[in-house]
Amino acid sequence: MTITNTSWNLVNTYAGLPDFFYSKIDLSKVSSPHLVVLNNDLAEHLGLDTDELKSREGVAVLSGNALPEGSIPLALAYAGHQFGYFTMLGDGRAMLLGEQVTPHGIYDIHLKGSGKTPYSRGGDGRAALSPMLREYIVSEAMHNLKIPTSRSLAVVTTGDYVLREKILKGAVLTRTARSHIRVGTFEYAAYFGTEENVRQLADYTIDRHYREAAKEDNPYLGLLKEVVKRQASLIAKWQLIGFVHGVMNTDNMAISGETIDYGPCAFMDAYDPEIVYSSIDTYGRYAYKNQPRMGLWNLSRFGETLLPLIHENRDKAVQLAQDAVNEFYDLYHKAWISGMRSKLGIFNEEAGDEELAEDLLNIMHKNMEDYTNTFLALTFSGTLTKETREFKEWQEKWQARLHRQRQTKEEVFELMKNSNPGVIPRNHRVEEALREADEKGDYSVMENLIRALSNPFAHRPDQKEYAALPPPSFCNYKTFCGT
Ligand code: AMP
Ligand code: MG
Repeated sequence: MTITNTSWNLVNTYAGLPDFFYSKIDLSKVSSPHLVVLNNDLAEHLGLDTDELKSREGVAVLSGNALPEGSIPLALAYAGHQFGYFTMLGDGRAMLLGEQVTPHGIYDIHLKGSGKTPYSRGGDGRAALSPMLREYIVSEAMHNLKIPTSRSLAVVTTGDYVLREKILKGAVLTRTARSHIRVGTFEYAAYFGTEENVRQLADYTIDRHYREAAKEDNPYLGLLKEVVKRQASLIAKWQLIGFVHGVMNTDNMAISGETIDYGPCAFMDAYDPEIVYSSIDTYGRYAYKNQPRMGLWNLSRFGETLLPLIHENRDKAVQLAQDAVNEFYDLYHKAWISGMRSKLGIFNEEAGDEELAEDLLNIMHKNMEDYTNTFLALTFSGTLTKETREFKEWQEKWQARLHRQRQTKEEVFELMKNSNPGVIPRNHRVEEALREADEKGDYSVMENLIRALSNPFAHRPDQKEYAALPPPSFCNYKTFCGT
């Protein structure tokens, strides 16, 4: 069934690639789709009519029961290194409906939980309600925290059940992204395809995301350099906000530089560089402190796929790619320290700034201080509740540092307010919202949370309750892959 006469305005640029890159799929329908959350802001951004999306036809599209006009549904092929091991993957429970044309560019419209595909392997192609709502809440929070990310348009319950450790309600998430080209998509082309396939994908990627690279003498090296830049900037933003992605496999790293695949991610409360939330990350490969290093590891895998395009001489290609990838730490570090300066109200650069930031982190770590709230306390009162001698010494250095710049107190306050969120999606609040929605069918807790997270830098009084720390009973929080 195709729905016509809608505000969907789809093109199918990915379908223009050779069919090596995807499988065309048929819809696998759900019993009784019901819209439980819709993102009005995003709908508007995409030029979609919200009344239409809420209608029976609209919900049919959001559940994968009907296709919007112009859609060619595809499951995308990709591979990836999962915890270091290479494997074939692909959209096993997702499909691309097409790309929505907007004044801000084109966006993938992607359904997650929409049924089996040729890449499902043993899986059922479905998703449970709670993880889809979780992706919705966290991805939108990330967007509002000014971090590049895929976004969530809607969640629809299916009326069907999915069998996991227990029986759960099924759901479909509609997510949007600049694209779903992953490091793993390039690995798929390089390992299972030909050099020509890698070139086709690289050309498509340059055209879609990195037009400036096309102008360089070596566009493929230019592509690598740009991707390194965007990942360095992205991962610095994660570190600065206290976000732990949890499953930075190469198939979960988007070439566009957006955060994608919200599975076992979490925001840290108390500052702990070693923190790991994912129940399956036994050795802490994707611990908070390892994220930059793992980003670099993934970029090296990306660079490898491009070698034949970068230079015909293998050694020369390796050298060029290595030099490009090795820029990562420097770029990452520059982005991180620049973000840290802003968080501390510092406008100009001094050599000691990094030490100042590190010293604060060490104090936080030692005292198990909350990461987000420490910066908030510094913003609003310049001090902390636990006034240790160490902190007081640090505070004096920080104050002296602020006096060595020409900006006024008010300017410092403004900068800090805009750099330190008043509210993040705290794990215990997210869990509470999901429990109410999933178990009781009460979406009001989630809606309130989403509202509080919609402008984390507003510092409104009604947002204050979301800054509260988890109760002591909520310790040792673990997350699970969103299957
Ligand atoms: P993820 O953990 O969501 O990044 O998924 C890793 C891989 O497993 C991807 O290829 C997914 O498409 C696939 N996958 C996850 N859950 C399912 C499922 N329920 N059915 C089929 N494939 C799945
Ligand atoms: Mg994934």
